[in-house]
Amino acid sequence: MKYTVEEYIKGCKCLEYGEKIPRKLKKAILGKMVTKTKLRRMLSDARINYNKYPESAEILPHPFCPNCGCDGSYVVDHYVEWPEVWYDDHCLKCHMIVGGADNSPYYHILEDIVEIHDKLIP
Ligand SMILES: [Zn+2]
Repeated sequence: MKYTVEEYIKGCKCLEYGEKIPRKLKKAILGKMVTKTKLRRMLSDARINYNKYPESAEILPHPFCPNCGCDGSYVVDHYVEWPEVWYDDHCLKCHMIVGGADNSPYYHILEDIVEIHDKLIP
């Protein structure tokens, strides 16, 4: 099924706001789900470069959602008063929280998972 540019852009915007869009349009924008095997390989390939505070860590080759492998995300701001910082990053595909900041530098959920993964494999 083909979509017009307008439909496509509108769909992208809805996704960024965390709104629901038709399943087929979502698939056209985000692509197919990553398989379990590929996701496991992505997790074992992921490496983290920790930077000095207050810079956030860098995830190589790229940050992705550990639940579905999607690399897109949208931000949910909790609108706390300055100088407080509190926002969450949600996955575009499965809406899981994939990162955020709570009066801290930005963190990605992979930072927890990859660390544990590295400890499990000697
Ligand atoms: Zn996801």
